[in-house]
Amino acid sequence: MTKIFTHSLKQKDLPIIIHRDNGFNCLYCKEPLTGDYVWEHLNSNRQDNRIENLALACQSCNIKKITNYDLGLVAAEKLKQNEDAGLKYLEDHGAFENNSSEININQTMRPFVKRWISERIVMDGKVELSEAINCLVYLCQENYSHGAEPTIRRYVKEMTCSVAEWQVVKDDKNKKIICKRNVLN
Ligand SMILES: [Zn+2]
Repeated sequence: MTKIFTHSLKQKDLPIIIHRDNGFNCLYCKEPLTGDYVWEHLNSNRQDNRIENLALACQSCNIKKITNYDLGLVAAEKLKQNEDAGLKYLEDHGAFENNSSEININQTMRPFVKRWISERIVMDGKVELSEAINCLVYLCQENYSHGAEPTIRRYVKEMTCSVAEWQVVKDDKNKKIICKRNVLN
């Protein structure tokens, strides 16, 4: 089954992607898109909904990409370009300067963490706490070259505090999971 990410995330990402990619066009054939456009996961990993990994394509290119080596290369190149641009954006905004790094990294990483957990909960109803921490440390390191475990834990703690929409509870196998508040108890 195809897992898609939520409508609200798409609504948020769409104008940014149209702006980034200079118009509402197919990444591959460059033709203007209609209502039938498809969200492309550039690395073909549908769990990886970073905006850098997303682009828009027409239906026919989307299908062609599965078997077409050249389109695969275009996708890989586009992902790299997006990632480089993302890092450049952080640098341009002083994310790696000493005095402002804490604030800027917070502004970038905290929403990323929240979005990732939110998607897992939308898709699966829950996410295991230890898996969430490990994945998020990894993804933040990969994306932002930051992401110490204590920082990620602090975000998760804050997002599951008693007034937040999520909570940490133990499931029937006694594993700690993050889920929507009051779903399981
Ligand atoms: Zn196309």
